This record gives sequence, C-alpha cells and structure tokens, in this order.
Amino acid sequence: MVIAIDGPAGAGKSTVARAVAAALGCTYLDTGAMYRCVALAELRGAEHPERAEITLGDRVLLDGDDVTEAIRAPEVSERASQVAARPEVRRAMQERQRALLGSGDWVAEGRDIGTVVCPGAEVKIFLTADDTERARRRAEELGADVDVVLADQRLRDARDRERADSPLVPAGDAVELDTTGLSIDEVVARIGELAASARTAS
Ligand code: C5P
Repeated sequence: MVIAIDGPAGAGKSTVARAVAAALGCTYLDTGAMYRCVALAELRGAEHPERAEITLGDRVLLDGDDVTEAIRAPEVSERASQVAARPEVRRAMQERQRALLGSGDWVAEGRDIGTVVCPGAEVKIFLTADDTERARRRAEELGADVDVVLADQRLRDARDRERADSPLVPAGDAVELDTTGLSIDEVVARIGELAASARTAS
C-alpha cells in the first residue's frame, strides 16, 4: 500500500507522514530530502548532481557523507526549490522513487506523489494550512524570524505551483486536509481511517 501525502512547505507533512508510518507499520519516504541532496550536491560543485548517490533512513547520506543536518540549511532549501523545477532532476528522482514504492507499504511525502510518482496510490492526502500558520511553525522549528520565513515560503510555494513539470496541485482524487487549528493526533487519526477503509476496499 502507498499513502501519498503531498502539499506545500510547512503544512505538517513530515511530522504527519512519520507518525502515520509508525502507526501503520509502513516505511517513510521523504522525497523532499532527495531534492535537497541534489541541491547540496550542486552547491558542492557536482556537474550532474541528479546522479549523486542518495541514501535515506534515520540519517541521510549523500555520496556516503552524512548530510542529515546540512540539507536543512536555508540556502539548500532555496536551491532545492530551483533544482526541483528541472526536468532532468525530476526524471531521475521520480524514477528512484517509483522503484522504491513498487513493493512494500509506504508513506511517501512530497509535492507530486499522488499526481505523477504514484497515481495509483491507495490513499492520497493533500495537506494544507494557512500560510501564516505554516510560516509560524517553520520559524519555530528553525529559530528564525517569521516574516523572513513567510517571504521565502511564498517564493518557494509559487515556484512549486507554477513550474511546468509536475507542479504542486492536488490529485483529482486526493482528500484535502487543512491542518490549521488541528492537532497532529487528529490529522494522523483521520489518515489512519482513510487507510483502513482503503484496505477494506482492496
Ligand atoms: O519538502 P521539502 O521542503 O523538504 O522539499 C524541498 C524542495 O523539494 C521543495 O521546496 C520542492 O521544491 C521540492 N520537492 C518537489 N517534489 C517533491 C518533494 C520536494 O519538487 N516530491
């Protein structure tokens, strides 16, 4: 089974996806971390950053180097949003993601899982929250100024929504969940119910 969780930055995807994976015994796939690795490889001078070796798990490895913290730096976020618009980067990442999702039970989070990477996913969630709430959460996580985070977030969201290749849009059959004012537990419980009914239906 694949549970696809897409949506803009700061909607709570990572926290929710990890919790759903733990609750249902699925493996968690953070596709954003893959684009972040490509961005970091490019910032480090790689000529073909999309060919870098990326290992996901408790720690994230880029060509064998532990980059778990390094890929969260603001300049990597900014570059990730740029490299993610490039078709050759998307093709390479989507191919790797499909190979992983082809067998086993997964909770995969990203922007294009339900639309492009895995249109046959049994459960598709599009997670949103109002943008000042999203910026407030991110600023808290990063210990950064909320106005700066909000401005960066708007730029990256617009880039994700407006790119020609695999833009950020809800799949036609996705369930949209607005997490503004909801607790993590409430969101996780709702996704658990959707997964249970998808299991019964299959
Ligand atoms: O989710 P996260 O913020 O870590 O993702 C980093 C960047 O990677 C996003 O800003 C987005 O541009 C890109 N991304 C994407 N498609 C995905 C996952 C992430 O374009 N499936």
